[in-house]
Amino acid sequence: MELRSARLHELELELVEPFETSFGVETTRRFLLVELEAAGGEVGRGECVAATEPLYSGESVATAREILTSRFLPDLLRRPVPTPDAFLASVERYRGHAMAKAAVETALLDLAARERGVSVSAYLGGGRRRVEVGVSVGIQRTVPALVRRVGRYLDDGYRRIKLKVRPGWDVAPVRAVRAEYPDIEIWVDANQAYPTRAVERIRRWADAYHVAQVEQPFAERAIRAHARLAADARFRVCLDESIVDDVSLEDALEARAITSLNVKTGRVGGATVGRRLARRAVTAGVPAWVGGMLESGIGRAHNVHLASLAAFTLPADLSASDRYYASDIVETPFVLGPGSRLDVPRGPGTGVELSERGFRRARRASRSFRRPR
Ligand SMILES: [Mg+2]
Repeated sequence: MELRSARLHELELELVEPFETSFGVETTRRFLLVELEAAGGEVGRGECVAATEPLYSGESVATAREILTSRFLPDLLRRPVPTPDAFLASVERYRGHAMAKAAVETALLDLAARERGVSVSAYLGGGRRRVEVGVSVGIQRTVPALVRRVGRYLDDGYRRIKLKVRPGWDVAPVRAVRAEYPDIEIWVDANQAYPTRAVERIRRWADAYHVAQVEQPFAERAIRAHARLAADARFRVCLDESIVDDVSLEDALEARAITSLNVKTGRVGGATVGRRLARRAVTAGVPAWVGGMLESGIGRAHNVHLASLAAFTLPADLSASDRYYASDIVETPFVLGPGSRLDVPRGPGTGVELSERGFRRARRASRSFRRPR
């Protein structure tokens, strides 16, 4: 496989409704899309999940644009055989920039799978035709509004509900949702919002309302606090932001700070890295699942393919397209099917194609890179 050119697009999509977490509120999503064109004309696409503001991690659209433009894409076009693995090896010496790395790696995966005539799922060794998903519900204005919102998602067919929480938005909303729906599976995600002294307080309300999983309550480096919360807990303690590579996963496992692993391709710097981490977690008895970053249809498709691997056993944060965007940049939206599942696209590569109209509407800027002669 030889590359002819690369393109970096900056796109903007409007969210169906503002999404609020303990980090802040998002109303639109601006993101980068990497397009790689092979000598034969085939195109692979990967989405960069870095947001405009560096709130979830240190990366932003601006930092990703800079490293992609100055290093990753020009370097890539100088290589003879840019497989996903070879690309990741070539950028290992650059610290950080996991989301920018993952954007290129997933575009290469899409391209390699298309050239082989198989889906990304098959390329990665996945077997499932459908993946079980749940919905992530942002912080709402009032508790009754949250309960109504959860009710609507349950009506839509979602089974597992994840509530975003933070100090001051935890006991009352979780109690209210539990009171209204005594049997549903509730997860909560705090995105690091709690001080480490809150261990016992979190344990009390999580137990009282039968929360199945508490995700990243403490700062990403607060491994010992997560271990204290996980000790004898009836709920799973999930790590998201804390796990960025093999070493951080090993440390968390050794400290018994993790009983569920959220894998995000962008956070760990590639789908093949995510696959490796999930497989490692499983051997340690820790279930893994695929997280989401408000992706467009391109990133969502990559996530669905990743979630089709046997190593992922808990429902993914991958809702149907209409949960986030009224209009997307792909032709076929993801639709929630029976059993709270999404179909894994069957065509070659990601199995989704760009919608020319949706893409033109979302595009804000583009830049092209050619192979040097
Ligand atoms: Mg999370």
